[in-house]
Amino acid sequence: MKRSADVVIIGGGCMGASVAYHLTRRGVTDLVLMEREPLLATGSTGRNAGGVRHQFSTDANIRLSIESIRLIEHFADEVGHPADFHQDGYLFLLSTLASLDSFKQNVALQRAHGVDVQWLDAREAERLVPGLDAAGVIGATFCARDGIADPNGVTMGFAKAAQAAGAVVERDTEVTGIRVVKGRVAGVDTSGGSMDARVVVNAAGPYARPVGRLAGIDVPVDPIRRHIFIAALDASAGPGRVPARHTMVIDFDTTFYFHREGTGVLFGMGNPQEASGFDTTVQWDFLPQVIDVAVRRLPALANASIAHAWAGLYEMSPDGNPIIGPVPGVDGLFLINGFSGHGFQHSPAAGRILADLIVGRDPGIDCAAFALERFAGRSLSAERYVV
Ligand SMILES: Cc1cc2nc3c(=O)[nH]c(=O)nc-3n(C[C@H](O)[C@H](O)[C@H](O)COP(=O)(O)OP(=O)(O)OC[C@H]3O[C@@H](n4cnc5c(N)ncnc54)[C@H](O)[C@@H]3O)c2cc1C
Repeated sequence: MKRSADVVIIGGGCMGASVAYHLTRRGVTDLVLMEREPLLATGSTGRNAGGVRHQFSTDANIRLSIESIRLIEHFADEVGHPADFHQDGYLFLLSTLASLDSFKQNVALQRAHGVDVQWLDAREAERLVPGLDAAGVIGATFCARDGIADPNGVTMGFAKAAQAAGAVVERDTEVTGIRVVKGRVAGVDTSGGSMDARVVVNAAGPYARPVGRLAGIDVPVDPIRRHIFIAALDASAGPGRVPARHTMVIDFDTTFYFHREGTGVLFGMGNPQEASGFDTTVQWDFLPQVIDVAVRRLPALANASIAHAWAGLYEMSPDGNPIIGPVPGVDGLFLINGFSGHGFQHSPAAGRILADLIVGRDPGIDCAAFALERFAGRSLSAERYVV
């Protein structure tokens, strides 16, 4: 392992890889991406549903989506690796007046940014997604340019392009210390030895808080387990009983979601009882609660068997918005954390913004909404679309 680098990035998920890619595009090639696992993209990035959408409730998140989706649409041309992006849209189903009211404001904001979001009624939603039962739905929103992409493809694309430009990727390397001397980052200690560095980036996903502690700071990110189930469909689930396209359907008021995945259906739902923790074992006794909702919305799932299931960790910040930028009081330490369950899709823009901040370029976006300091006492503008 090298003994010094300009930049060390801790964490080889989509965020760390995106920062590495965008730094190399800005001429910073003396950088090392450190991942403690044998492979990249095995943390939250490797366990996510691949959803990519414009539909958010805050100005900052909509901007992150617009920029990120532009890159994901042209990923193979620009980065040199397929992102397998299927733009079959995101459909949000709303069943309460409170949700309907807040979505009216959100859709107005999305449209003000030029995002083409449509209102549908329950029958139109059912026509769009064969097999969907929209009973009780009082409104729905649909954006056709939303979709599903491949998190592993995006991460590997960023990492390979960064490596081709001179960046080094150290797998099987756990960062165990961040050296800070007189308020300035001096380097890291790792399972493979020490490395001097002027800049260190915390891109440790749900482990942002323990990694922050290595430098004596508190990063307000809590890990929350989320499950994904893959249903295999039986022969009776033919055309008309399940969607053929990959449209992501989100039952907003229960947080149940599903989309077509290969010959089956991928689905999941938040568990309001889930406490913060790093456990990623599958909690099978949660499945019956999910199935109750699932068979109401997609009756074909009543006859389906569960082919596969896994759990991963959301990296929740207090307001559901990311933390992107420097750490006041520790020069050279930067954060790209707290994406609260929707980070994969924002990794292209988030990595670009942080790379600009590191090299001292104007990121072209007001970063106050991403600043660590925002948690100090002020009321927070929370993201409503955390599902
Ligand atoms: C079930 C589920 C579904 C999701 N669905 C979506 C979705 O549809 N769309 C979407 O946009 N997002 C989704 N997300 C969220 C998304 O996966 C995350 O926001 C994103 O992957 C965060 O990326 P990351 O690179 O910050 O974290 P990670 O991918 O977790 O990467 C962090 C890396 O840091 C490494 N690391 C930690 N500590 C150290 C250390 N000390 N030294 C070295 N390495 C270390 C870890 O091993 C890990 O590989 C989902 C998440 C889950 C769990």
